[in-house]
Amino acid sequence: MVYDYGIIGGGPAGYTAGMLLAQKGKSVVIFEKDKLGGTCLNKGCIPTKSLLHSSEIYKEVFCSSNIGLDISVNSFDFSKVMAKKEQTVDKVRKALELAVKNSGAEVVYSEAQIKDKNTIIAGGKEYTVSEIIYAAGSKPKEIKGLEFDHEFILSSDDVLNIKNLPKSVLIVGSGAIGIEWARIFSNFGVEVFVSEIAEHLLPIADVEVSKRIERIFKQRKIKFFLNDSIEKIEEKTVTLKSGNKVNPDFILSAAGRVPLKPDSECIVLGDSRGEIQLAHYAIHQAKKYVLGIDYDNNLIPSVIYGEPEIAWAGLREQDCGEECQKILLPITALGKSWCDDSTDGFIKLILRDNLIVGAHIVSREASALIHELVIAMQNKLTADDLKKVCFAHPTYSEGIFEALLRA
Ligand SMILES: Cc1cc2nc3c(=O)[nH]c(=O)nc-3n(C[C@H](O)[C@H](O)[C@H](O)COP(=O)(O)OP(=O)(O)OC[C@H]3O[C@@H](n4cnc5c(N)ncnc54)[C@H](O)[C@@H]3O)c2cc1C
Repeated sequence: MVYDYGIIGGGPAGYTAGMLLAQKGKSVVIFEKDKLGGTCLNKGCIPTKSLLHSSEIYKEVFCSSNIGLDISVNSFDFSKVMAKKEQTVDKVRKALELAVKNSGAEVVYSEAQIKDKNTIIAGGKEYTVSEIIYAAGSKPKEIKGLEFDHEFILSSDDVLNIKNLPKSVLIVGSGAIGIEWARIFSNFGVEVFVSEIAEHLLPIADVEVSKRIERIFKQRKIKFFLNDSIEKIEEKTVTLKSGNKVNPDFILSAAGRVPLKPDSECIVLGDSRGEIQLAHYAIHQAKKYVLGIDYDNNLIPSVIYGEPEIAWAGLREQDCGEECQKILLPITALGKSWCDDSTDGFIKLILRDNLIVGAHIVSREASALIHELVIAMQNKLTADDLKKVCFAHPTYSEGIFEALLRA
């Protein structure tokens, strides 16, 4: 049999392309060496958010005295947290496996190799295909001198399988993965240290967002070292270039991910492209390839989860000149934030010629709010157009309106 498409990798890029092509009547075979769903479902987006949710419940319980609850906790079994995470991942994966099956795409669970532009080898068999799509994703980046030993120096994969909570942890890198894990551990009462080589935490974000996260981390007693990196490790004592010493139970090295590239020329989708390494970007690339749905690369939203959420799209303040206008609404201006005890944050809009060209949010529900602004930006709605929208009260969304009134 000659398949129309052979897809290497069953992550968001691979399974989305596979399902869409199969739905269009193409014969598709997806090769997956591990589990369908890829990094996102099995080692990334989904398990981390399940752990984050559990850690937030844990923290809430210990902070509930201000509403008159007198709770005594008899015991805490961390293995149940990990088991819940596994169940979540299993449920989502089962639904995905069914969806892929129903689409008509075939899945071969085996490592695949490209032999030539029409042949893929997997499990000792040769598959003839008209077109190859390479969507093999990425892997955790190893820093020189900080190679993963999977015991003291852990990758983002390893940390998903810890059996017990550490007393203290050093996280190297403060991108999305580092920030989310700092929040998870801190919510569980773990002493957290973060080492960041750049000038600010979350260096890819708008500088004001980074500074606010630093303030929030300080309030939560998450200790961070900026412009810093590891000088040496002796036993379990870590000395940083700044001279600071830390004695963590382990180090989580979260210094980015390396794209896996094909050896020969073919269509490449998702993390493998080495562009924006986000699941929705991988999915969107697949949609673009199969359905021709285009997108604006500058408007891919970024979201960092936890309390408060962080989300942004478009230009950052440091990218703009004087022609841009900046509006900043503190979240305290919104009644809902006081009801939710979630007053730390802001909605920041960057406007040029009455159009929103950048949006940066630190707030509860930022992950939802950012899409309202992406829709406005993508459709070039003016600030005046948005002012005509009647936002419900009390909500975080009305913050967009309140911010625009300050323009
Ligand atoms: C801890 C963590 C948290 C994250 N959180 C988020 C988040 O909240 N939101 C977000 O948007 N993104 C998040 N990401 C990023 C997201 O997981 C990736 O951007 C996304 O998974 C990329 O999809 P992909 O299809 O390109 O690659 P992948 O999901 O990596 O899938 C590639 C698949 O290819 C398979 N494969 C590789 N080589 C072969 C081969 N030779 N033969 C057969 N199969 C092969 C792999 O086993 C894998 O299943 C997170 C990542 C991590 C690590």
